Amino acid sequence: MSSGNAARRAGIIAIAQELDAAGLVPNKSGNVSCRSPGGFLITPAGVPYRELAPADLVELPVHGSPAAEGPRPSSEWRMHGAIYAARAEVEAVVHTHSPQATALACTGRGIPAFHYMIALAGGDVRCTPYATFGTAELADSALRGLAGRRATLLGNHGVIAVGASLREAHSVAVEVENLAGQYLAMLAAGLEPLLLGDAELQRVIEKFADYGRLTR
Ligand SMILES: [Zn+2]
Repeated sequence: MSSGNAARRAGIIAIAQELDAAGLVPNKSGNVSCRSPGGFLITPAGVPYRELAPADLVELPVHGSPAAEGPRPSSEWRMHGAIYAARAEVEAVVHTHSPQATALACTGRGIPAFHYMIALAGGDVRCTPYATFGTAELADSALRGLAGRRATLLGNHGVIAVGASLREAHSVAVEVENLAGQYLAMLAAGLEPLLLGDAELQRVIEKFADYGRLTR
């Protein structure tokens, strides 16, 4: 285990446990990964987040399959690998079943650009059609949902968020949950949000970049 990977493993565990403590990955759902010299490191299948140890994380090549022996990676390793293969700027991936965003994803609705914080996701958040967990179909669908964005809702499933660091991917996932809650509140009240235009969103994206909001 290289010292670089030791830091990566600790970073993944910290983020996974924060998501768990915040209730964003109920019942061992979700998974977290980051790029590594060998491809990417990902949380394992079936280990409760509070019990995660560095050696439980699994390193996989970006284009490849898990070894037959040793700890099993999360069932969503294909989706993580496909994102690292397709998106050179992505250093970390966070997948959650966070309650409000998942509720919205079960209606097939994405999140429109009603609040400037959606700039963290790179713009409005799509919702992909349903695909079975762990499949290449889900991986392809996630990539389409993520086109030009840092997050997408996965239909009848949950959320995937990406970033230039673990912290950034985590922030995006947390904000998607927050915005989904706001959107559900508006829908529950029978209200429709006023939307921000593309020019304003672009302005906010640039301001976030200036303030380093997207690289922490
Ligand atoms: Zn999932």
